[in-house]
Amino acid sequence: MADTIFSKILSGEIPSHKVYEDDLVYAFLDIGHLSEGHTLVIPKEPAPSMDQLSDESAAAIGRVLPRICRAVVKATGVDQYNILQNNGVRAHQAVFHLHFHIIPKPNEKEGLGVEWPSKDIDHEKGAALAAQISALI
Ligand code: AMP
Repeated sequence: MADTIFSKILSGEIPSHKVYEDDLVYAFLDIGHLSEGHTLVIPKEPAPSMDQLSDESAAAIGRVLPRICRAVVKATGVDQYNILQNNGVRAHQAVFHLHFHIIPKPNEKEGLGVEWPSKDIDHEKGAALAAQISALI
């Protein structure tokens, strides 16, 4: 898999503000933060996107993500936050080593701005699509 800036952080070639590490997971502050405490949580496995992550790394991240969120909340004093995980250029991914953003939302201006252009679902199409996805898991 291609070397990314995050594999260089994991190898120590590039410095980072580490907040957590175990055998499978690493977390550090985002240098281009949207708000103070903006933290990135990554698997050590160099999977580029969520659909390519092993169950083992997924479980390791799932176990520790809430703990890191609690620590960010306590350290920043901000109890509202977004978790963001981008996959692919169109989905705003810039670093192709899977990562979760924990982004404190201290006020309307700072943190993640979310546009949510929702549309009503077509239930007939939705039922077919749900069955198709379900069969593929
Ligand atoms: P994404 O758009 O989801 O791929 O986000 C990539 C994130 O990585 C951005 O928020 C960047 O600010 C952050 N980033 C890039 N390089 C570094 C670095 N050396 N240390 C910490 N965060 C970084």
